[in-house]
Amino acid sequence: MEKNIYMDNAATTKVRKEVLDEMLPYFSDNYGNPSSIYALGSRSKVAVEKAREQVADALNADKNEIFFTAGGSESDNWAIKGVALRNREKGNHIITTKIEHHAVLHTCQYLEKDGFEVTYLDVDEDGLIDLEELRSAITDKTILITIMFANNEIGTLEPIEEIGRIAKENNIIFHTDAVQAVGSIKIDVKAMNIDLLSLSGHKIYGPKGIGALYIKKGLRFDNLIEGGAQERNRRAGTENVSGIVGLGKAIELASKELVEKSERLIYLRDRLMTKIEKNIKHVRLNGHRSKRLPGNVNYSIEYIEGESILLSLDMEGIAASSGSACTSGSLDPSHVLLAIGLPHGIAHGSLRLSLGMYNTEEEVDYVVEKLAEIVDRLRNMSPLYNERKTGVI
Ligand SMILES: *Cc1c(COP(=O)(O)O)cnc(C)c1O
Repeated sequence: MEKNIYMDNAATTKVRKEVLDEMLPYFSDNYGNPSSIYALGSRSKVAVEKAREQVADALNADKNEIFFTAGGSESDNWAIKGVALRNREKGNHIITTKIEHHAVLHTCQYLEKDGFEVTYLDVDEDGLIDLEELRSAITDKTILITIMFANNEIGTLEPIEEIGRIAKENNIIFHTDAVQAVGSIKIDVKAMNIDLLSLSGHKIYGPKGIGALYIKKGLRFDNLIEGGAQERNRRAGTENVSGIVGLGKAIELASKELVEKSERLIYLRDRLMTKIEKNIKHVRLNGHRSKRLPGNVNYSIEYIEGESILLSLDMEGIAASSGSACTSGSLDPSHVLLAIGLPHGIAHGSLRLSLGMYNTEEEVDYVVEKLAEIVDRLRNMSPLYNERKTGVI
């Protein structure tokens, strides 16, 4: 039988049936513009405001603190540029890490060309930042700390509460890219002292091209997209009503099922990790063993290229991902794997299996079985591995 196993849930997820059902009427019968005053328009308006409440509830935020965007990348761009441009007279220094998503890293690099100074914090071999290093990076010019909640490649969870406390003590705005964490980790923006938080629909079984930015009430902040008066004058453009409705439903379900779903994913993840370590030699876990996303598994598999493993897995009907950005046509090793100290050679040979709500125990077992065969076959073809076996190196 043709297998079809999806273990790339960190890249995107399938839209849930319940989410799709909620969205569909807003493509057809309820097509009104939320800004129109007649009944058809206000029906859309009501739906958008309901979703805003669903997102706010999931974060312990107020509904007036939620702004819809076109996804995680826009939310990251807006958060960072919005703070930087508005607070320029206060300071020009931003602190982030070396392992952020490109939506954060490239935004910071863009601002560097415009006179801002950015500190890129190192991480340790598990991908964790050092809080003391964060403290000593702060200057009287620091206006923003932007550190991700959970890393998309290696799954490491950063100490967000402690970072929030440090930011607050020093009166610095704190943004976190929580795109991977939402739906898997309980988030409370108040308790965690988060001022800005990015999230995305398609990573939580919602649609692509929709996201949100939480902006704490009273924050000094510039707009990114100018135009009409939508989103209370903060983000112009006719609302993506069906997308917003889908995001609202997806995040509501994710919060409701968070504990149960995370426990199940942790069980599957640990089973996958145990079996890989038992059945495949010369593998190294990337990311922290326990402070990691419930669904994330990432290994360096020595003596083989990540891409060859992916292609072989694909032929077995298994969708996974590698640390290197080969999908984008670049063969650069991953900046995250380099930041945790992997040498270039090994940084190329990593495999990320990201589990989601539709994966089963049988799939986990099947993937390990196939992976072990593939690794064996590829290693037997690898001159490097054969030399090692015969004791030449
Ligand atoms: C996927 C992802 C993004 C980008 O979100 P989009 O909605 O695809 O733009 C940003 N940050 C992290 C950590 C992600 O995993």
